[in-house]
Amino acid sequence: MLSPTRVAASLGILALMLMLGGTQDAIARSKLPDPINGGVAERLYRLDCGHSLANDESVWTPAENAGRDIEFSSTCRLIKHGREWLLWDTGVPESALNDPRGWSTLPKLIVYHLDKSLTDQLAEIGLKPGDIGRVAISHTHGDHIGNLGLFPNSTVVMQQAEYSWIHSPNGPNDNVNQLMALARKLLGTPKKLQLIDGDTDVFGDGSVTLISTPGHTPGHQSLLVHLRNSGFILLSGDVVHLKGNFEMNIVPSLNTDKAESIASMERVRQLIAAYKATFFINHDKSQTDKLKLLPAFYD
Ligand SMILES: [Zn+2]
Repeated sequence: MLSPTRVAASLGILALMLMLGGTQDAIARSKLPDPINGGVAERLYRLDCGHSLANDESVWTPAENAGRDIEFSSTCRLIKHGREWLLWDTGVPESALNDPRGWSTLPKLIVYHLDKSLTDQLAEIGLKPGDIGRVAISHTHGDHIGNLGLFPNSTVVMQQAEYSWIHSPNGPNDNVNQLMALARKLLGTPKKLQLIDGDTDVFGDGSVTLISTPGHTPGHQSLLVHLRNSGFILLSGDVVHLKGNFEMNIVPSLNTDKAESIASMERVRQLIAAYKATFFINHDKSQTDKLKLLPAFYD
């Protein structure tokens, strides 16, 4: 005889399968975690990985807010899984630390500042860069891979599509071309590179899952983290920059594919509903400022 809780759990999984494509095969194929019986990671930290000021909000909200200033947060996340550590994105380069001139990916548009180094923040909880086994990157824009050089012995995990894209010929958008050139420079040639294709269960237990969300760049990804007390948390990467854009399906002009961007936002909405997930938007400063910061953590 099934207990009411088991029945509710089974119905939950069934609803999820229906939502995500109809059959259990759909979950197995897509490497998505089991919402009830999936594993958990122990801790999720937010690191302050910079903040920026852009002089034209309309790049992120096309046809609106031309010439208006906008501030963004930059965050990195650190996940503890057993004795292993996974870093999600690496932020603005440490060379920009306390430099009043800041640092930029697109000097005419945006300037980044860094008040705390990644190394110092890791040290606050007793870690050195060498303790980080894996560094997964949402995508290759400079504000996300600025400190990859601090982790020469870590395995860099990224989508094959992203890697191929930055090594492909230039396209029509000069801003995008500049970002690709900077990406090649900052990525360099990692000693340990894991190129993945689509959704990927990082630890093989459903606790941490890379979710393919292309559109901002061709191999962009988000990260779904399962924690015991906080449940599922979905880390956006740059699938959206602002809560308002997410609500209105607005696509920044820097994105490489508008239709893919909209499809990825829709996918994120489905995942949030299916996993009752909390959604942390990396660059949305008004949300980020309210979230726990290392040494505090979500568990
Ligand atoms: Zn970004």
